[in-house]
Amino acid sequence: MEGGRRKPRRRGKRGRGEPRHPSQDDVSAAVSPVQSNEQSKRPQVQFPDAKRRKKGDDGFSGTSAFLDRMRARLSGGHFRMLNEKLYTCRGSEAFEFFKENPALFDAYHAGYGQQMARWPIQPVNVIIKWLQSHSPGFVVADFGCGNASLAKSVKNKVFSIDLVSADPSVIACDMAHTPLDSLSVDVSVFCLSLMGVNFSSYLVEASRVLRTGGWLLIAEVRSRFDPATGGADPEKFCHAVQKLGFSLTSKDVSNKMFVIFYFRKKKEITEDAARSIVWPDLKPCLYKRR
Ligand code: SAH
Repeated sequence: MEGGRRKPRRRGKRGRGEPRHPSQDDVSAAVSPVQSNEQSKRPQVQFPDAKRRKKGDDGFSGTSAFLDRMRARLSGGHFRMLNEKLYTCRGSEAFEFFKENPALFDAYHAGYGQQMARWPIQPVNVIIKWLQSHSPGFVVADFGCGNASLAKSVKNKVFSIDLVSADPSVIACDMAHTPLDSLSVDVSVFCLSLMGVNFSSYLVEASRVLRTGGWLLIAEVRSRFDPATGGADPEKFCHAVQKLGFSLTSKDVSNKMFVIFYFRKKKEITEDAARSIVWPDLKPCLYKRR
């Protein structure tokens, strides 16, 4: 928000050389040409802060706070829209979407960061601690790395993978098909990143790149595995991962917000066997407006 006062503009008229560029919100609220002829008949919008202004106010200080709140709400709205998109499309579609609109990836992560700041413990930090207590020689693949905070916090070699490369170290791809070699990593991590209706193909890819004996760590929002609220049955999910050639080593349910599964790869399975696995649906995690 720029500081200082603005000269009030004459309503309905714009001076020469003052084109008005429509913002995204103007576009979504656009009216048809017929309606736009009726603009003068539209009721005037009453801005909430106008009501609250006290006598003697300059008429602008309240507006500034109102605009700040409005901006925060709009960015929250963008985040929730993008979040829903990521959970309800395939990874390939999400990849093409962000390739055409890379700025929206920043908008998504600004909102994601705000949501995470409300969580007392972030799952990525639990995973970082786990890695710090294991061999620094483990090669890690971080599937859906976001801003690559995991890679920045450990000594391990980390392949950070996401739809957009927000950092030069990040490999931009749909994580159903990464450029990593088969059997080349010791730990595959999914931290709140099993988005996309084809999430099982991300797990198949993670298994391909993992050496036998390697670890698969999956942190997910707890409600996605709570059958009482429409979430998947965690037993069914673990059973499907076991069919993929893994054994469940432990499950961390100590946190209110998320659950972490620790699997180890026991064996390679054939592509046909992988295709025949029945996966439970994982409902989207739709963050609420606050
Ligand atoms: N793991 C990070 C970020 C989680 S947000 C953390 O815990 O902080 C989920 C991330 O998964 C987003 O950055 C999103 O872009 C990424 N993602 C979702 N689907 C993907 C796909 N198909 N391929 C690559 N990344 C994907």
